[in-house]
Amino acid sequence: MRVPKFSVNTLIEIAVGAFAAVLTALALEGVSLGPFFILGGLTALVYLTFGGRVGAQAAGGLQGNPTSIPAVKFDDIGGQESAKRELCEGLEFINDPERVRDLGIRPLKGLLLVGPPGTGKTMLAKAAANYTNSVFIPVSGSEFVEIYAGVGAKRVRQVFANARKQAKKSTGSAVVFIDEIDVLGGHRGKHSSHLEYDQTLNQLLVEMDGISTADDTRILVIAATNRVDLLDPALLRPGRFDRIIRVDLPEKEGRLKILQIHTRNKPIAEDVDLEVIAQETYGFSGAHLESLANEAAILALRSSEDSVRMAHFREAIEKVMMGEKTDRQPSRAELERIAVHEIGHGLVGEIVRPGSVSSVAITPRSNALGYVRNAPRDDMYLYTKEHLEGQIKICLAGCIAEDVVCGSRSTGAASDFEQAFKFARQIIDSGMSELGIVSRDDLPRATYNRTLTQIISKQEDIVRSYVEGAKNRIFEASRELIKRERISGDELRRLLALQDTECIGA
Ligand code: ATP
Repeated sequence: MRVPKFSVNTLIEIAVGAFAAVLTALALEGVSLGPFFILGGLTALVYLTFGGRVGAQAAGGLQGNPTSIPAVKFDDIGGQESAKRELCEGLEFINDPERVRDLGIRPLKGLLLVGPPGTGKTMLAKAAANYTNSVFIPVSGSEFVEIYAGVGAKRVRQVFANARKQAKKSTGSAVVFIDEIDVLGGHRGKHSSHLEYDQTLNQLLVEMDGISTADDTRILVIAATNRVDLLDPALLRPGRFDRIIRVDLPEKEGRLKILQIHTRNKPIAEDVDLEVIAQETYGFSGAHLESLANEAAILALRSSEDSVRMAHFREAIEKVMMGEKTDRQPSRAELERIAVHEIGHGLVGEIVRPGSVSSVAITPRSNALGYVRNAPRDDMYLYTKEHLEGQIKICLAGCIAEDVVCGSRSTGAASDFEQAFKFARQIIDSGMSELGIVSRDDLPRATYNRTLTQIISKQEDIVRSYVEGAKNRIFEASRELIKRERISGDELRRLLALQDTECIGA
Protein backbone atom coordinates (compact mmCIF):
# COMPACT_ATOMS: atom_id res chain seq x y z
CA MET A 1 0.00 0.00 0.00
CA ARG A 2 1.34 3.46 -0.88
CA VAL A 3 1.35 6.03 1.90
CA PRO A 4 0.76 9.52 0.49
CA LYS A 5 3.51 12.07 1.26
CA PHE A 6 2.43 15.50 2.44
CA SER A 7 4.58 18.60 2.56
CA VAL A 8 4.75 20.57 5.83
CA ASN A 9 2.68 23.33 4.19
CA THR A 10 -0.03 20.85 3.28
CA LEU A 11 -0.12 19.41 6.79
CA ILE A 12 -0.47 22.92 8.26
CA GLU A 13 -3.33 23.66 5.85
CA ILE A 14 -5.08 20.38 6.73
CA ALA A 15 -4.71 21.13 10.46
CA VAL A 16 -6.15 24.65 10.05
CA GLY A 17 -9.04 23.29 7.98
CA ALA A 18 -9.80 20.56 10.53
CA PHE A 19 -9.63 23.06 13.42
CA ALA A 20 -12.12 25.35 11.65
CA ALA A 21 -14.46 22.41 11.02
CA VAL A 22 -14.34 21.35 14.70
CA LEU A 23 -15.07 24.92 15.81
CA THR A 24 -18.08 25.14 13.49
CA ALA A 25 -19.43 21.82 14.74
CA LEU A 26 -19.02 22.90 18.38
CA ALA A 27 -20.69 26.27 17.67
CA LEU A 28 -23.67 24.44 16.16
CA GLU A 29 -23.87 22.30 19.33
CA GLY A 30 -24.04 25.51 21.37
CA VAL A 31 -20.61 25.18 23.02
CA SER A 32 -18.91 28.46 24.00
CA LEU A 33 -15.95 29.11 21.69
CA GLY A 34 -14.13 31.71 23.85
CA PRO A 35 -11.37 29.37 25.17
CA PHE A 36 -10.77 28.05 21.65
CA PHE A 37 -10.25 31.54 20.27
CA ILE A 38 -7.71 32.25 23.04
CA LEU A 39 -5.95 28.94 22.23
CA GLY A 40 -6.03 29.76 18.51
CA GLY A 41 -4.62 33.25 19.14
CA LEU A 42 -1.77 31.84 21.22
CA THR A 43 -0.97 29.23 18.54
CA ALA A 44 -0.92 31.94 15.87
CA LEU A 45 1.41 34.02 18.02
CA VAL A 46 3.80 31.09 18.49
CA TYR A 47 3.66 30.34 14.75
CA LEU A 48 4.36 33.94 13.79
CA THR A 49 7.31 34.07 16.20
CA PHE A 50 8.91 30.72 15.35
CA GLY A 51 7.00 29.68 12.24
CA GLY A 52 9.44 31.39 9.88
CA ARG A 53 11.70 28.43 10.37
CA VAL A 54 8.92 25.93 9.71
CA GLY A 55 7.80 27.94 6.68
CA ALA A 56 11.34 28.11 5.40
CA GLN A 57 11.67 24.36 5.87
CA ALA A 58 8.43 23.80 4.02
CA ALA A 59 9.51 26.07 1.24
CA GLY A 60 12.90 24.39 1.23
CA GLY A 61 11.23 21.07 0.61
CA LEU A 62 9.47 22.61 -2.36
CA GLN A 63 12.38 24.59 -3.59
CA GLY A 64 14.78 21.70 -3.76
CA ASN A 65 18.19 21.29 -2.26
CA PRO A 66 19.71 24.77 -2.33
CA THR A 67 22.98 25.56 -4.10
CA SER A 68 23.41 22.10 -5.50
CA ILE A 69 24.88 21.63 -8.94
CA PRO A 70 24.13 18.03 -9.95
CA ALA A 71 27.00 15.66 -10.70
CA VAL A 72 25.16 14.01 -13.64
CA LYS A 73 26.85 14.72 -16.99
CA PHE A 74 25.54 14.18 -20.52
CA ASP A 75 28.08 11.35 -20.82
CA ASP A 76 26.27 9.49 -18.03
CA ILE A 77 23.17 9.32 -20.20
CA GLY A 78 23.13 6.53 -22.77
CA GLY A 79 21.48 7.12 -26.16
CA GLN A 80 19.02 10.04 -26.46
CA GLU A 81 21.49 11.72 -28.81
CA SER A 82 18.99 14.02 -30.52
CA ALA A 83 17.46 15.02 -27.16
CA LYS A 84 20.93 15.88 -25.84
CA ARG A 85 21.74 17.88 -28.97
CA GLU A 86 18.54 19.92 -28.83
CA LEU A 87 18.94 20.48 -25.13
CA CYS A 88 22.52 21.69 -25.51
CA GLU A 89 21.46 24.23 -28.13
CA GLY A 90 18.90 25.62 -25.73
CA LEU A 91 21.54 25.96 -23.04
CA GLU A 92 23.85 28.24 -24.98
CA PHE A 93 22.10 31.35 -23.73
CA ILE A 94 23.25 30.47 -20.22
CA ASN A 95 26.78 29.50 -21.23
CA ASP A 96 27.35 32.29 -23.73
CA PRO A 97 24.78 35.05 -23.13
CA GLU A 98 26.84 37.80 -24.86
CA ARG A 99 27.02 35.89 -28.13
CA VAL A 100 23.32 35.09 -27.98
CA ARG A 101 22.56 38.79 -27.35
CA ASP A 102 24.93 39.94 -30.14
CA LEU A 103 23.14 37.73 -32.62
CA GLY A 104 19.81 39.12 -31.47
CA ILE A 105 18.56 35.69 -30.44
CA ARG A 106 15.62 35.62 -28.10
CA PRO A 107 16.79 33.24 -25.37
CA LEU A 108 14.82 30.11 -24.67
CA LYS A 109 12.95 30.33 -21.41
CA GLY A 110 11.53 26.87 -21.18
CA LEU A 111 12.31 23.44 -22.55
CA LEU A 112 9.77 20.67 -22.39
CA LEU A 113 10.95 17.05 -22.24
CA VAL A 114 8.26 14.67 -23.41
CA GLY A 115 8.47 10.91 -23.17
CA PRO A 116 7.52 7.73 -21.33
CA PRO A 117 8.53 7.14 -17.70
CA GLY A 118 12.11 6.14 -16.94
CA THR A 119 13.63 7.38 -20.20
CA GLY A 120 16.02 9.81 -18.52
CA LYS A 121 14.12 13.13 -18.51
CA THR A 122 15.21 13.98 -14.96
CA MET A 123 18.78 12.94 -15.79
CA LEU A 124 18.77 15.22 -18.85
CA ALA A 125 17.56 18.16 -16.76
CA LYS A 126 20.28 17.49 -14.17
CA ALA A 127 22.92 17.18 -16.88
CA ALA A 128 21.70 20.50 -18.31
CA ALA A 129 22.27 22.11 -14.91
CA ASN A 130 25.71 20.51 -14.69
CA TYR A 131 26.61 21.61 -18.23
CA THR A 132 25.66 25.20 -17.49
CA ASN A 133 27.08 25.17 -13.96
CA SER A 134 23.64 26.09 -12.66
CA VAL A 135 21.86 25.48 -9.40
CA PHE A 136 19.24 22.74 -9.86
CA ILE A 137 15.84 23.42 -8.33
CA PRO A 138 13.62 20.32 -8.75
CA VAL A 139 9.89 20.49 -8.09
CA SER A 140 6.97 18.30 -9.03
CA GLY A 141 3.70 19.55 -10.54
CA SER A 142 1.75 17.78 -7.81
CA GLU A 143 3.45 19.86 -5.11
CA PHE A 144 1.59 22.95 -6.35
CA VAL A 145 -1.83 21.43 -6.36
CA GLU A 146 -3.92 22.47 -3.40
CA ILE A 147 -7.60 22.83 -2.79
CA TYR A 148 -7.17 26.34 -1.36
CA ALA A 149 -7.20 29.15 -3.90
CA GLY A 150 -3.96 31.08 -4.10
CA VAL A 151 -1.70 28.54 -2.37
CA GLY A 152 -0.34 27.01 -5.59
CA ALA A 153 0.34 30.44 -7.12
CA LYS A 154 2.20 31.48 -3.96
CA ARG A 155 4.33 28.34 -4.22
CA VAL A 156 5.18 29.10 -7.84
CA ARG A 157 6.33 32.58 -6.77
CA GLN A 158 8.38 31.02 -3.95
CA VAL A 159 10.10 28.61 -6.31
CA PHE A 160 11.17 31.32 -8.76
CA ALA A 161 12.19 33.71 -5.97
CA ASN A 162 14.27 30.92 -4.46
CA ALA A 163 15.81 30.10 -7.86
CA ARG A 164 16.89 33.74 -8.30
CA LYS A 165 18.23 33.85 -4.74
CA GLN A 166 20.19 30.61 -5.10
CA ALA A 167 21.51 31.60 -8.52
CA LYS A 168 22.69 34.97 -7.16
CA LYS A 169 24.38 33.26 -4.20
CA SER A 170 26.30 30.81 -6.39
CA THR A 171 27.06 30.79 -10.11
CA GLY A 172 24.47 33.27 -11.40
CA SER A 173 22.21 30.74 -13.08
CA ALA A 174 19.57 28.22 -12.08
CA VAL A 175 17.60 25.47 -13.74
CA VAL A 176 14.08 25.05 -12.39
CA PHE A 177 12.96 21.50 -13.19
CA ILE A 178 9.20 20.89 -13.02
CA ASP A 179 8.46 17.17 -13.22
CA GLU A 180 4.87 16.05 -14.07
CA ILE A 181 4.03 19.51 -15.39
CA ASP A 182 0.73 18.14 -16.74
CA VAL A 183 -0.59 18.09 -13.14
CA LEU A 184 -0.24 21.85 -12.88
CA GLY A 185 -0.26 22.86 -16.54
CA GLY A 186 -3.46 21.18 -17.73
CA HIS A 187 -6.00 23.10 -19.84
CA ARG A 188 -7.39 26.01 -17.86
CA GLY A 189 -11.03 25.85 -16.81
CA LYS A 190 -11.13 22.04 -16.98
CA HIS A 191 -10.58 21.11 -13.34
CA SER A 192 -13.31 20.85 -10.73
CA SER A 193 -11.48 23.33 -8.46
CA HIS A 194 -10.37 25.24 -11.54
CA LEU A 195 -9.91 28.62 -9.87
CA GLU A 196 -6.93 27.31 -7.89
CA TYR A 197 -5.47 25.41 -10.87
CA ASP A 198 -5.90 28.39 -13.16
CA GLN A 199 -4.27 30.78 -10.71
CA THR A 200 -1.30 28.43 -10.30
CA LEU A 201 -0.81 28.05 -14.02
CA ASN A 202 -1.26 31.80 -14.61
CA GLN A 203 1.42 32.48 -12.03
CA LEU A 204 3.80 30.09 -13.82
CA LEU A 205 3.13 31.93 -17.10
CA VAL A 206 3.77 35.27 -15.37
CA GLU A 207 7.05 34.02 -13.92
CA MET A 208 8.19 32.67 -17.28
CA ASP A 209 7.28 35.91 -19.01
CA GLY A 210 9.33 37.74 -16.40
CA ILE A 211 12.56 35.90 -17.31
CA SER A 212 14.80 38.22 -19.31
CA THR A 213 18.35 38.31 -20.63
CA ALA A 214 18.79 41.67 -19.00
CA ASP A 215 18.58 40.01 -15.55
CA ASP A 216 21.80 39.52 -13.66
CA THR A 217 20.65 35.97 -12.91
CA ARG A 218 19.74 33.52 -15.65
CA ILE A 219 16.86 31.14 -15.08
CA LEU A 220 15.89 28.29 -17.37
CA VAL A 221 12.76 26.25 -16.82
CA ILE A 222 12.87 22.61 -17.87
CA ALA A 223 9.65 20.66 -17.52
CA ALA A 224 8.86 17.00 -18.09
CA THR A 225 5.68 15.15 -18.94
CA ASN A 226 4.46 12.09 -20.74
CA ARG A 227 1.09 13.71 -21.52
CA VAL A 228 1.86 16.74 -23.66
CA ASP A 229 -1.69 16.57 -25.03
CA LEU A 230 -3.02 17.62 -21.62
CA LEU A 231 -1.05 20.86 -21.47
CA ASP A 232 -2.68 24.26 -21.81
CA PRO A 233 -1.77 25.75 -25.22
CA ALA A 234 -0.62 28.94 -23.46
CA LEU A 235 2.28 26.98 -21.99
CA LEU A 236 3.39 25.75 -25.39
CA ARG A 237 3.33 29.00 -27.26
CA PRO A 238 6.67 30.54 -28.35
CA GLY A 239 8.30 32.47 -25.56
CA ARG A 240 7.31 29.90 -22.94
CA PHE A 241 8.16 26.27 -23.54
CA ASP A 242 9.90 27.15 -26.77
CA ARG A 243 11.23 23.76 -27.51
CA ILE A 244 9.57 20.40 -27.15
CA ILE A 245 12.17 17.67 -26.95
CA ARG A 246 11.14 14.05 -27.40
CA VAL A 247 12.78 11.58 -25.04
CA ASP A 248 11.71 8.21 -26.42
CA LEU A 249 12.39 4.64 -25.37
CA PRO A 250 15.98 3.92 -26.43
CA GLU A 251 16.68 2.08 -29.67
CA LYS A 252 19.19 -0.81 -29.73
CA GLU A 253 22.31 1.39 -29.87
CA GLY A 254 20.97 3.48 -27.00
CA ARG A 255 20.16 0.39 -24.95
CA LEU A 256 23.71 -0.88 -25.45
CA LYS A 257 25.16 2.43 -24.24
CA ILE A 258 22.87 2.50 -21.21
CA LEU A 259 23.88 -1.09 -20.36
CA GLN A 260 27.55 -0.13 -20.69
CA ILE A 261 26.99 2.77 -18.30
CA HIS A 262 25.20 0.67 -15.70
CA THR A 263 27.68 -2.23 -15.82
CA ARG A 264 30.75 0.04 -15.49
CA ASN A 265 30.91 -0.51 -11.75
CA LYS A 266 30.22 -4.27 -11.85
CA PRO A 267 32.57 -7.22 -12.42
CA ILE A 268 31.27 -8.69 -15.66
CA ALA A 269 32.20 -12.26 -16.69
CA GLU A 270 33.74 -12.92 -20.09
CA ASP A 271 30.68 -14.72 -21.45
CA VAL A 272 28.54 -11.57 -21.17
CA ASP A 273 27.63 -10.03 -24.51
CA LEU A 274 25.94 -6.69 -23.86
CA GLU A 275 25.01 -6.40 -27.52
CA VAL A 276 22.90 -9.56 -27.26
CA ILE A 277 21.26 -8.20 -24.10
CA ALA A 278 20.55 -4.90 -25.88
CA GLN A 279 18.96 -6.89 -28.69
CA GLU A 280 16.76 -8.85 -26.30
CA THR A 281 15.51 -5.86 -24.37
CA TYR A 282 13.35 -4.14 -26.98
CA GLY A 283 10.87 -1.83 -25.28
CA PHE A 284 12.96 -1.41 -22.11
CA SER A 285 13.44 2.13 -20.79
CA GLY A 286 16.70 3.36 -19.27
CA ALA A 287 15.20 2.73 -15.83
CA HIS A 288 14.38 -0.89 -16.81
CA LEU A 289 17.96 -1.38 -18.04
CA GLU A 290 19.41 0.06 -14.84
CA SER A 291 17.20 -2.30 -12.85
CA LEU A 292 18.22 -5.22 -15.10
CA ALA A 293 21.95 -4.63 -14.48
CA ASN A 294 21.27 -4.32 -10.77
CA GLU A 295 19.13 -7.48 -10.61
CA ALA A 296 21.80 -9.45 -12.51
CA ALA A 297 24.40 -8.39 -9.94
CA ILE A 298 22.04 -9.37 -7.10
CA LEU A 299 21.62 -12.83 -8.68
CA ALA A 300 25.42 -13.20 -8.83
CA LEU A 301 25.59 -12.25 -5.15
CA ARG A 302 22.85 -14.76 -4.27
CA SER A 303 24.76 -17.55 -5.99
CA SER A 304 28.01 -16.45 -4.25
CA GLU A 305 29.84 -15.71 -7.49
CA ASP A 306 32.49 -13.06 -8.01
CA SER A 307 31.29 -11.84 -11.36
CA VAL A 308 27.99 -11.37 -13.18
CA ARG A 309 27.46 -13.99 -15.90
CA MET A 310 25.24 -14.05 -18.97
CA ALA A 311 22.87 -16.48 -17.19
CA HIS A 312 22.33 -13.86 -14.46
CA PHE A 313 21.50 -11.25 -17.09
CA ARG A 314 19.08 -13.63 -18.83
CA GLU A 315 17.27 -14.36 -15.59
CA ALA A 316 17.23 -10.65 -14.71
CA ILE A 317 15.63 -9.79 -18.08
CA GLU A 318 12.82 -12.19 -17.26
CA LYS A 319 12.44 -10.75 -13.81
CA VAL A 320 12.25 -7.16 -15.07
CA MET A 321 9.90 -8.17 -17.90
CA MET A 322 7.62 -10.57 -16.09
CA GLY A 323 8.03 -9.67 -12.42
CA GLU A 324 9.37 -11.60 -9.43
CA LYS A 325 8.82 -15.37 -9.19
CA THR A 326 5.71 -16.18 -7.16
CA ASP A 327 5.08 -19.00 -4.70
CA ARG A 328 2.11 -20.38 -6.60
CA GLN A 329 2.44 -24.14 -7.01
CA PRO A 330 0.28 -25.56 -9.78
CA SER A 331 -0.78 -29.23 -9.51
CA ARG A 332 0.91 -31.84 -11.73
CA ALA A 333 -2.04 -31.83 -14.16
CA GLU A 334 -1.92 -28.03 -14.37
CA LEU A 335 1.83 -28.08 -14.92
CA GLU A 336 1.39 -30.50 -17.83
CA ARG A 337 -1.18 -28.22 -19.39
CA ILE A 338 0.92 -25.08 -18.83
CA ALA A 339 3.96 -26.77 -20.41
CA VAL A 340 1.96 -27.86 -23.47
CA HIS A 341 0.51 -24.35 -23.76
CA GLU A 342 3.93 -22.66 -23.66
CA ILE A 343 5.54 -25.17 -26.03
CA GLY A 344 2.63 -24.48 -28.41
CA HIS A 345 3.46 -20.74 -28.34
CA GLY A 346 7.15 -21.55 -28.81
CA LEU A 347 6.52 -23.89 -31.74
CA VAL A 348 4.40 -21.41 -33.69
CA GLY A 349 6.71 -18.52 -32.72
CA GLU A 350 9.56 -20.44 -34.35
CA ILE A 351 7.54 -21.28 -37.45
CA VAL A 352 6.46 -17.67 -37.92
CA ARG A 353 9.88 -16.19 -37.17
CA PRO A 354 12.58 -18.88 -37.09
CA GLY A 355 15.17 -18.34 -34.35
CA SER A 356 13.00 -15.82 -32.50
CA VAL A 357 12.34 -17.72 -29.26
CA SER A 358 14.92 -16.99 -26.65
CA SER A 359 13.48 -19.08 -23.78
CA VAL A 360 10.39 -20.96 -22.60
CA ALA A 361 9.59 -21.31 -18.90
CA ILE A 362 6.88 -22.61 -16.61
CA THR A 363 8.03 -20.58 -13.63
CA PRO A 364 5.10 -18.62 -12.19
CA ARG A 365 5.92 -14.91 -12.32
CA SER A 366 3.55 -12.08 -11.54
CA ASN A 367 0.20 -13.07 -13.13
CA ALA A 368 1.66 -15.58 -15.58
CA LEU A 369 2.01 -19.30 -14.89
CA GLY A 370 4.48 -19.71 -17.75
CA TYR A 371 5.90 -17.64 -20.59
CA VAL A 372 7.82 -17.60 -23.84
CA ARG A 373 10.36 -14.86 -24.29
CA ASN A 374 11.05 -13.69 -27.79
CA ALA A 375 14.08 -11.76 -28.93
CA PRO A 376 13.17 -9.26 -31.60
CA ARG A 377 15.91 -9.07 -34.21
CA ASP A 378 15.64 -5.38 -34.96
CA ASP A 379 13.55 -2.60 -33.51
CA MET A 380 10.34 -2.33 -35.52
CA TYR A 381 8.30 0.79 -36.14
CA LEU A 382 5.91 -0.47 -38.83
CA TYR A 383 4.05 -3.75 -39.04
CA THR A 384 2.87 -5.49 -42.21
CA LYS A 385 -0.28 -7.58 -42.46
CA GLU A 386 1.86 -10.75 -42.55
CA HIS A 387 3.61 -9.73 -39.35
CA LEU A 388 0.31 -9.06 -37.55
CA GLU A 389 -1.15 -12.36 -38.77
CA GLY A 390 1.98 -14.10 -37.49
CA GLN A 391 1.47 -12.48 -34.08
CA ILE A 392 -2.15 -13.69 -34.03
CA LYS A 393 -0.96 -17.21 -34.80
CA ILE A 394 1.51 -17.10 -31.91
CA CYS A 395 -1.21 -15.85 -29.53
CA LEU A 396 -3.64 -18.62 -30.51
CA ALA A 397 -1.03 -21.39 -30.42
CA GLY A 398 -1.11 -22.01 -26.65
CA CYS A 399 -4.83 -22.67 -26.52
CA ILE A 400 -4.81 -24.83 -29.66
CA ALA A 401 -1.89 -26.90 -28.36
CA GLU A 402 -3.90 -27.54 -25.17
CA ASP A 403 -6.87 -28.54 -27.29
CA VAL A 404 -4.91 -30.91 -29.54
CA VAL A 405 -2.52 -32.43 -26.98
CA CYS A 406 -4.61 -32.35 -23.74
CA GLY A 407 -8.01 -32.78 -25.41
CA SER A 408 -9.57 -29.59 -23.97
CA ARG A 409 -9.01 -25.85 -23.48
CA SER A 410 -8.62 -23.86 -20.25
CA THR A 411 -9.02 -20.30 -18.97
CA GLY A 412 -5.25 -19.76 -19.28
CA ALA A 413 -5.61 -18.36 -22.80
CA ALA A 414 -7.88 -15.38 -22.03
CA SER A 415 -5.12 -12.77 -22.20
CA ASP A 416 -3.73 -14.41 -25.39
CA PHE A 417 -7.10 -13.84 -27.03
CA GLU A 418 -7.15 -10.20 -25.95
CA GLN A 419 -3.79 -9.77 -27.66
CA ALA A 420 -4.95 -11.64 -30.78
CA PHE A 421 -7.98 -9.37 -31.10
CA LYS A 422 -5.78 -6.31 -30.63
CA PHE A 423 -3.70 -7.38 -33.64
CA ALA A 424 -6.83 -8.20 -35.65
CA ARG A 425 -8.21 -4.71 -34.92
CA GLN A 426 -4.92 -3.22 -36.11
CA ILE A 427 -5.32 -5.08 -39.40
CA ILE A 428 -8.83 -3.67 -39.92
CA ASP A 429 -8.03 -0.13 -38.72
CA SER A 430 -4.98 0.11 -40.97
CA GLY A 431 -7.03 -0.80 -44.04
CA MET A 432 -5.38 -4.20 -44.44
CA SER A 433 -8.50 -6.37 -44.07
CA GLU A 434 -10.82 -7.45 -46.87
CA LEU A 435 -13.01 -4.42 -45.99
CA GLY A 436 -10.31 -2.15 -47.39
CA ILE A 437 -9.86 1.33 -45.90
CA VAL A 438 -12.66 1.90 -43.40
CA SER A 439 -13.50 4.19 -40.54
CA ARG A 440 -14.12 2.06 -37.49
CA ASP A 441 -16.63 4.60 -36.10
CA ASP A 442 -18.78 4.55 -39.22
CA LEU A 443 -18.67 0.80 -39.83
CA PRO A 444 -21.72 -1.21 -38.65
CA ARG A 445 -20.75 -3.04 -35.48
CA ALA A 446 -21.84 -6.41 -36.92
CA THR A 447 -19.62 -6.00 -40.01
CA TYR A 448 -16.66 -5.08 -37.86
CA ASN A 449 -17.16 -8.05 -35.54
CA ARG A 450 -17.67 -10.46 -38.44
CA THR A 451 -14.40 -9.36 -40.05
CA LEU A 452 -12.56 -9.68 -36.72
CA THR A 453 -13.85 -13.24 -36.31
CA GLN A 454 -12.90 -14.12 -39.89
CA ILE A 455 -9.33 -12.91 -39.39
CA ILE A 456 -8.99 -14.90 -36.17
CA SER A 457 -10.63 -18.09 -37.54
CA LYS A 458 -8.40 -18.12 -40.61
CA GLN A 459 -5.28 -17.99 -38.42
CA GLU A 460 -6.77 -20.56 -36.03
CA ASP A 461 -7.12 -23.09 -38.86
CA ILE A 462 -3.50 -22.60 -39.94
CA VAL A 463 -2.23 -22.93 -36.34
CA ARG A 464 -4.27 -26.12 -35.85
CA SER A 465 -2.57 -27.70 -38.85
CA TYR A 466 0.88 -26.77 -37.45
CA VAL A 467 0.05 -28.16 -34.03
CA GLU A 468 -1.55 -31.38 -35.26
CA GLY A 469 1.53 -32.04 -37.41
CA ALA A 470 3.79 -31.68 -34.34
CA LYS A 471 1.55 -33.22 -31.65
CA ASN A 472 4.00 -35.87 -30.46
CA ARG A 473 6.95 -33.51 -30.43
CA ILE A 474 4.98 -30.93 -28.45
CA PHE A 475 4.19 -33.65 -25.91
CA GLU A 476 7.84 -34.77 -25.64
CA ALA A 477 9.12 -31.18 -25.36
CA SER A 478 6.54 -30.36 -22.68
CA ARG A 479 7.79 -33.32 -20.56
CA GLU A 480 11.31 -31.98 -20.84
CA LEU A 481 10.11 -28.49 -19.89
CA ILE A 482 8.37 -29.85 -16.76
CA LYS A 483 11.64 -31.55 -15.77
CA ARG A 484 13.79 -28.45 -16.35
CA GLU A 485 11.30 -25.61 -15.65
CA ARG A 486 13.01 -23.43 -18.26
CA ILE A 487 14.59 -24.26 -21.62
CA SER A 488 16.48 -22.03 -24.00
CA GLY A 489 15.40 -21.22 -27.55
CA ASP A 490 18.12 -23.50 -28.93
CA GLU A 491 16.91 -26.40 -26.79
CA LEU A 492 13.35 -25.81 -27.92
CA ARG A 493 14.40 -25.86 -31.57
CA ARG A 494 16.31 -29.11 -30.98
CA LEU A 495 13.43 -30.77 -29.10
CA LEU A 496 10.93 -29.82 -31.79
CA ALA A 497 13.37 -30.68 -34.59
CA LEU A 498 12.73 -27.24 -35.98
CA GLN A 499 15.87 -26.96 -38.04
CA ASP A 500 13.61 -28.27 -40.79
CA THR A 501 10.31 -26.43 -40.35
CA GLU A 502 8.87 -27.91 -43.53
CA CYS A 503 8.45 -31.23 -41.74
CA ILE A 504 5.40 -29.86 -39.93
CA GLY A 505 3.92 -28.15 -42.89
CA ALA A 506 4.91 -24.52 -42.26
P1 ATP B 1 9.79 9.73 -14.90
O1 ATP B 1 9.06 10.22 -16.12
O2 ATP B 1 9.19 8.48 -14.33
O3 ATP B 1 10.07 10.79 -13.89
P2 ATP B 1 12.39 10.01 -16.10
O4 ATP B 1 12.20 9.99 -17.58
O5 ATP B 1 12.57 11.34 -15.46
O6 ATP B 1 11.24 9.19 -15.41
P3 ATP B 1 14.87 9.37 -14.86
O7 ATP B 1 14.36 9.66 -13.48
O8 ATP B 1 15.75 10.39 -15.47
O9 ATP B 1 13.64 9.06 -15.80
O10 ATP B 1 15.60 7.97 -14.90
C1 ATP B 1 15.40 6.99 -13.89
C2 ATP B 1 16.65 6.12 -13.80
O11 ATP B 1 16.77 5.33 -14.97
C3 ATP B 1 17.93 6.93 -13.74
O12 ATP B 1 18.28 7.19 -12.42
C4 ATP B 1 18.94 6.04 -14.44
O13 ATP B 1 19.46 5.10 -13.53
C5 ATP B 1 18.11 5.27 -15.43
N1 ATP B 1 18.13 5.85 -16.79
C6 ATP B 1 17.07 6.29 -17.49
N2 ATP B 1 17.44 6.70 -18.72
C7 ATP B 1 18.77 6.53 -18.79
C8 ATP B 1 19.74 6.78 -19.82
N3 ATP B 1 19.38 7.27 -21.01
N4 ATP B 1 21.03 6.48 -19.55
C9 ATP B 1 21.39 5.97 -18.36
N5 ATP B 1 20.53 5.71 -17.36
C10 ATP B 1 19.23 5.98 -17.56
